[in-house]
Amino acid sequence: MKKHNYSAGPCILPQEVFEKSAQSILDFNNSGLSILEISHRSKDFVAVMEEARALVLELLGLEGKGYQALFLSGGASLEFLMVPYNLMKVDGKAAYLDTGTWANSAIKEAKHFGETVVVASSKPENYNHIPKEYSIPTDASYFHCTSNNTIFGTQMKSFPTTNVPLVCDMSSDIFSRVLDFSKFDLIYAGAQKNMGPAGTTLVVIKEEILGKTGRTIPNMLDYQQHIAKESMYNTPPVFPIYASLLTLQWLKNLGGIAAIEKINEAKANLLYTEIDRNPLFKGTAAKEDRSNMNATFLLENEAHQEKFDAMWKAAGISGLAGHRSVGGYRASMYNALPIESVQVLVDVMQELEKNI
Ligand SMILES: *Cc1c(COP(=O)(O)O)cnc(C)c1O
Repeated sequence: MKKHNYSAGPCILPQEVFEKSAQSILDFNNSGLSILEISHRSKDFVAVMEEARALVLELLGLEGKGYQALFLSGGASLEFLMVPYNLMKVDGKAAYLDTGTWANSAIKEAKHFGETVVVASSKPENYNHIPKEYSIPTDASYFHCTSNNTIFGTQMKSFPTTNVPLVCDMSSDIFSRVLDFSKFDLIYAGAQKNMGPAGTTLVVIKEEILGKTGRTIPNMLDYQQHIAKESMYNTPPVFPIYASLLTLQWLKNLGGIAAIEKINEAKANLLYTEIDRNPLFKGTAAKEDRSNMNATFLLENEAHQEKFDAMWKAAGISGLAGHRSVGGYRASMYNALPIESVQVLVDVMQELEKNI
């Protein structure tokens, strides 16, 4: 039986994506060949890459606005260093907002390249909120933020207006809510949280911000090289890109980001309402900053843990354990998680209340 999969990443994808991508391994486009055994330069795969890159820009509303979409490798973690390599001016500085473990990792990599200004941090409160009062140095090469903090269950509900390029790690909430994506100059996201399997990273860049650092960049780490080679500078991760394309097609057929946003809001509302109502549970993130993707919560009384764990496991729920730095539980409600799965969890929480 299919589980109710709350895994934080890699995570649940639409069932039709599993089915179609499985079929492509056996016989891709009725070619008599597997997608795993054809050239990435073949007509069939080039078409996949072209459609995926175009569909990303279409879904984000960035067509014809000077942006390029790339499917790279190395995870979001490689972008932590590709961003400063490509954007931080020699002898310049970069500004970062520290809202969680991933933001912190990005800051550490930037420090290898030059002065890294942390404009605000919620680390002293174990990242339970998003700092809102800060100013961005006007001479920074860029400002970097993390839209959704996967581990701590917080999400930026608004983004600063600034004269410097705006860079955002959207790994865990890309394609989940409507934003004015044209406010951003560079967006990156590891595929495995909301778009596809692990193995590829989406990077969306406003081309005009590139080539201004005065640095010599090794080809593999140079966004301009990847753009010039149409995201095929080297052999791309063909299967993760194909599965990502299938997810993007699924999203488009559903009505795009505006449609999935409504569903995501309904799921998050359902769960947070229960967390707040049920006296056995409490949320860990500041209410105004709660993530619609990852809901983090604790049992008020740890003595109930064994019982609760047995109950949700018996209900077919998987992947609910919290990250070790927060403890408790984390319900990741990415795009492909159906609202029925959230109802199953809420029912178990109410069942526990009745049984205590
Ligand atoms: C998971 C995650 C990362 C790390 O992604 P990798 O692809 O494993 O490098 C970075 N940022 C955020 C916000 C994440 O959720």
